[in-house]
Amino acid sequence: MVIHGVNVIIVDHDTPDLKEKDLTPLLWPDASDLRVIYVTLSGDKMTVHERHQVTGAGEAAQSLRAALQTAGISPAAIERFFRPFFGGVLLDNALESSAALLRFYTRRFVFGRAFVPSRGMRAFAAYLAAQLPQCCLHLNCPVESIECDSNRVRAVVVGGRRVEVESVILAMDAWSSSRLLNLPLPPSRPPVWTVFFSARESLYRGRLIVLPAGRRRLVRHFVQMTNIAREYAPSGSHLVVATVLDPRDLHPPSMAKAAEAEIREVFPHAQLEVVDILRVPNPVAPQLPGFMKNQAFFPQFANMQIAGDFQSWGSTEGAVLSGLHAAQTILNSRFL
Ligand SMILES: Cc1cc2nc3c(=O)[nH]c(=O)nc-3n(C[C@H](O)[C@H](O)[C@H](O)COP(=O)(O)OP(=O)(O)OC[C@H]3O[C@@H](n4cnc5c(N)ncnc54)[C@H](O)[C@@H]3O)c2cc1C
Repeated sequence: MVIHGVNVIIVDHDTPDLKEKDLTPLLWPDASDLRVIYVTLSGDKMTVHERHQVTGAGEAAQSLRAALQTAGISPAAIERFFRPFFGGVLLDNALESSAALLRFYTRRFVFGRAFVPSRGMRAFAAYLAAQLPQCCLHLNCPVESIECDSNRVRAVVVGGRRVEVESVILAMDAWSSSRLLNLPLPPSRPPVWTVFFSARESLYRGRLIVLPAGRRRLVRHFVQMTNIAREYAPSGSHLVVATVLDPRDLHPPSMAKAAEAEIREVFPHAQLEVVDILRVPNPVAPQLPGFMKNQAFFPQFANMQIAGDFQSWGSTEGAVLSGLHAAQTILNSRFL
């Protein structure tokens, strides 16, 4: 949020004395001009904090939950904002992910712009595919096995056909890559569910995400996507998307009903109809404290690079950067 040169506003009703503490561990160390407004409504006071330089020592070894507690953030503020927001971003309601991600994403959200492609997420893949000659891309043909010879890949088997290879980039999710390479599977995460609703009446105005407070929410957050991209629903209706991190053993139709009831707690006038329910198994690899150092669970191959968000961090950007790195490494090994 950028308001008249001030970058972050933190409102914490329950801990007025927090203004005395250094909130900077929640932010990024190298942004010396970052200004924080800390508002305590109990005392009707507004304090503008200058950024202090912080070392960030030990933060990578801390969980996000521990970092918030260490910073003195009140339990109420954690339940009202930090858990719904960062729990949803990191798909981790327990906030066990590395505290380093708190700073990383705070910086991204403060300085960057959030966007969605107007034609939906598939437009990304379609755009990349359109840059390639048609013969390069073979869809709907999963790799069945990989033939390795000590530390070299000799061939991949696709649709029963053996294809000899010079270099390979394996860009799958961590579990599929491990299965193909006969490696032990990495620790898994529970599936994440997305429930898509159509709404006849708009629930709210503005490009806002709704953060229901509390740890035991079925819906971690929801958003009326048509406020951001009108194209996401036919005219006269609105698309509301809810993220469910813990479906509590409910079957999908009951889960969708319970999700709808939670949305109605916030917007009693909501008239919703379920249009789709999406289950994402193993949504992102766990990003526990120190995860960046522990990523090398894949063996090194002379002519194969392994890419994917689990090689960097769990986001589209992380996946793309790891792919670029893999491609560059192969090019370097061939031409340098
Ligand atoms: C609910 C949800 C919301 C998210 N929101 C955001 C967001 O707002 N912003 C953001 O940046 N990130 C977001 N992410 C994270 C982002 O989706 C992932 O980080 C990213 O998709 C990872 O890309 P990837 O290429 O590493 O892996 P994947 O997207 O998992 O792609 C791996 C591909 O490999 C294919 N594959 C598997 N086995 C084989 C085989 N044998 N042969 C051929 N292909 C195979 C799979 O079909 C799959 O298409 C979200 C994730 C979820 C679950």
